[in-house]
Amino acid sequence: MADQKILIIGSGFAAAANLLHLVEAGIRPSQITIVGPGQLGRGNAYGCDDDDFRLNVRANLMWVWPDRRDDFGNWAKTHITDDKDAVRSSGIFYRRRDFGRYVASLVDAALAVAGGTITHYPQIVTKLGKIDQGGWQAECSDGRLIKADLALLATGSPPPQWPCPIHGAKAQLPKLENRLVQNPWNGRWLGHIPAQSRLAIIGGGLTALDAVTALARRDHQGPIFLLAPHGTLPPEQADWVKQAPPSWPDAPRPSEILRRFRSYLPDLPTDDPVWQQAFEELRIDINQRWQALSDHDRRRLMRRLGWLWSRYRYRAAPQTIAAANRLQQAGILEICHARLSAIHLEMAADDASLRLDLHDTKTGSRDLVVDYVINCTGVGHDPLLANLVADGIGVPDAFGQGLRVSHQNEVINPEGQAIPTLLLVGPAMASSLGDVVAASGISLAGMRVAARLASQIL
Ligand SMILES: Cc1cc2nc3c(=O)[nH]c(=O)nc-3n(C[C@H](O)[C@H](O)[C@H](O)COP(=O)(O)OP(=O)(O)OC[C@H]3O[C@@H](n4cnc5c(N)ncnc54)[C@H](O)[C@@H]3O)c2cc1C
Repeated sequence: MADQKILIIGSGFAAAANLLHLVEAGIRPSQITIVGPGQLGRGNAYGCDDDDFRLNVRANLMWVWPDRRDDFGNWAKTHITDDKDAVRSSGIFYRRRDFGRYVASLVDAALAVAGGTITHYPQIVTKLGKIDQGGWQAECSDGRLIKADLALLATGSPPPQWPCPIHGAKAQLPKLENRLVQNPWNGRWLGHIPAQSRLAIIGGGLTALDAVTALARRDHQGPIFLLAPHGTLPPEQADWVKQAPPSWPDAPRPSEILRRFRSYLPDLPTDDPVWQQAFEELRIDINQRWQALSDHDRRRLMRRLGWLWSRYRYRAAPQTIAAANRLQQAGILEICHARLSAIHLEMAADDASLRLDLHDTKTGSRDLVVDYVINCTGVGHDPLLANLVADGIGVPDAFGQGLRVSHQNEVINPEGQAIPTLLLVGPAMASSLGDVVAASGISLAGMRVAARLASQIL
């Protein structure tokens, strides 16, 4: 048993946090294989190069261990010496790439202490299947097959998909590939954008704000149309301090949860620190309430509360709001209350442009001609998780976004039983477990999984 092999699929923060907790729990590094691209710990969230892509929460909320919440802040004092813009009146908001550096340094330190190395293949797992003798076999993008006794899915946030059809002769216009930025998270596209070009940013969330901030820093001069489905940008983080959680009735129904939100949130502007403090307090014990609901009730609750949750749960770093305000005042950024229904690639003489069909709430149907389209529409679909469903290994969660998992992060099979050798940690556990997508929530789940696996193996 003590020699069991663990395969971690994915190479972002969840994979790194799990590795740290597994090694701390006594699992030998040589028992662990990781498959995933890039440097371990960075992933989609912290693998960006751009200086303007910042953490959306204060440094002391970016913790790996709940009893060492200041660890990143303390590391930052000596390791982040060139980020003059980090400090704001509501807290310190570091660059995301620097958090990635911090996590990579934790991995190096943990492996040095444990005195061993892990195996890391920078590939993608395309298929995962059971083997007859027990355990799992992963098929990698380079054809490699890896066998393991336990598999941990840490495949993270799947990159965005285009939200509408793209028409036109794409094959004849290879240069247009650059003009359609399907996945903006790493920020490398910013180097191709001429300062005078016309841009459309699709989406009105934190990724859209990151794009605007980076363009502002580059002194972008051409018009930027930001198509936000609600016509607004995310609100800014306030200088709030979390106090005690509110009391909840036992096993509240969706209507009671809704009532608690209504009565607990003060009658103040939503940008007031006291309002955000109350909202953050409501989050403290919300996961137990969520986990006690049936799938039907979870869907009912999200139909009523979803808009409030997605608007005020994900707030922006102050630096990003300041940049958007600057560009709006300069007449460069226009926030359109509009949805995109199609993109047409058009060629006139030697020049190419993109014509967008929009439905604008103010003006109705509208055409917009731009040079670049940046897709900031949020997460897409995970092909590996979809394969596990198609192969009858896992089942989709209540919202069809991730897999159904137990309280112990075990994937649930179609018969409703937890699979003790197949675990999942990361955003795809959210529909089952609640508000767990932030780095801290993911690390807590990793601690739980490591303790379970260590007791199973050692
Ligand atoms: C752009 C962005 C910014 C964010 N900012 C913050 C923030 O500021 N603060 C915060 O607390 N949270 C933030 N989050 C939330 C985020 O969910 C967590 O913080 C955390 O980083 C998620 O880690 P992860 O490893 O699960 O996912 P990811 O960062 O998505 O990493 C997953 C990794 O797995 C790889 N992978 C995927 N499929 C496979 C496969 N089949 N085989 C092998 N490898 C695979 C991917 O290529 C990627 O490298 C952000 C998320 C995103 C997407």
